[in-house]
Amino acid sequence: AKQTIANMKETDKDVQAFITINEDEAISAAEKIDAAGVDEQNILSGIPVGIKDNLVTKGVKTTAASKMLGNFKPIYTATAVQKLTDAGMVMVGKTNMDEFAMGGSTENSAFKTTKNPWDYTKVPGGSSGGSAAAVASGQVLGALGSDTGGSIRQPASFNGIVGMKPTYGRVSRWGLIAFGSSFDQIGPFTKTVADNAAMLTAIAGQDQHDLTSSDKAVPNFAEKLDAGVAGMTIGLPTEYLGEGVDDSVKQLILAAAKTYEQLGAKVVEVSLPHTRYGVAAYYILSSSEASSNLQRFDGIRYGFRADNTKNLEDIYVQTRSQGFGDEVKRRIMLGTYSLSAGFYDAYFKKAAQVRTLMINDYTEVFKNVDLILAPTAPTTAYALGAEVNDPMTMYMNDAMTIPVNMAGLPGLSMPVGFADGMPVGMQLIGRPFDEVTVYQAANAFE
Ligand code: GLN
Repeated sequence: AKQTIANMKETDKDVQAFITINEDEAISAAEKIDAAGVDEQNILSGIPVGIKDNLVTKGVKTTAASKMLGNFKPIYTATAVQKLTDAGMVMVGKTNMDEFAMGGSTENSAFKTTKNPWDYTKVPGGSSGGSAAAVASGQVLGALGSDTGGSIRQPASFNGIVGMKPTYGRVSRWGLIAFGSSFDQIGPFTKTVADNAAMLTAIAGQDQHDLTSSDKAVPNFAEKLDAGVAGMTIGLPTEYLGEGVDDSVKQLILAAAKTYEQLGAKVVEVSLPHTRYGVAAYYILSSSEASSNLQRFDGIRYGFRADNTKNLEDIYVQTRSQGFGDEVKRRIMLGTYSLSAGFYDAYFKKAAQVRTLMINDYTEVFKNVDLILAPTAPTTAYALGAEVNDPMTMYMNDAMTIPVNMAGLPGLSMPVGFADGMPVGMQLIGRPFDEVTVYQAANAFE
């Protein structure tokens, strides 16, 4: 355990994936497992895991990469984290991210810049960039992230690893610092599909603390890993292979479709006609939810409070002005505007209607296919600094991941090849609560 932590610290000098390394607690937890004997039947036993810093951990600093929570030590532990610990995993640290999970490059962190381990001049993706880089650089074998519009799948793609956003409701959100509550899901990053299925099996399930967690039975998500894809129908959406997607990415996805055909699947072209409204509708809906969720950071209840304030109102104004970064403020303004009387019908309500149309698109397609195959992101990882001052370009990166959150479907990203030396990811999207089929097809390709 001591050696693992020493190796991590050495690697993390370059990668900068962790905000907090949980050295003493991790070593004592690992020693306890050693003393009791590693459980050979349980592949998670004694395995080091990184946790995104928007999942609360009792007594361990949890910042959501915001100055607002710079010294915040929670009094309880998120359900998903507790379940991993109960399954024998050892939490070695809390990973860097975009502030409150808003962003796609991890550059919106108030604390540090995480590098892509494949090329230190490039972004690791985001918002769960620290978790993805920690796995890709071999510091940990697994990590948890959260995905509101692509924040697990896009960094998985940029780092050449496996990342799963489960069906909405599959994993309890208790203890996840809320961004867009009707979109947010927690999920695992790993190097292999089998490890990923094992971690999801450990964290899934109903939780009395989260009323949106589903009471559906939790299967062993690895139960059909070796069943192959013969007889499956896989849909390739026209809209996900159009303009804006790099040609090198497109070619790799088409090659993957060929591979699936050779493995016995039938590949058909499908259409999701409302895709192009997804990004716009998502930014209205998720920012509206965020503006409401972030009201609690008022300088009274949690974390940071500005100094030298004159009265209660001034505490709110100064604390929020100094505590939140630019991107978070942008979302609060957009969300507050969209929800305000006079604009609600034109923005929030319209966007909610678009969401229904997008859900219907998927429902139609899933009448005829078992899975959807698509790129995860339109490009590979780009240079640090290239998009951080250009939010519109950054927002468009999520055009193929956002619709999956709009409909609450399971989506997995896994490596499909390389373009110019950087990893490219492909996305497998499944029917609601059918993660088993997603993992089955992913493992057939791996
Ligand atoms: N990049 C998207 C955003 O900034 C998605 C973030 C996420 O999934 N947390 O909202």
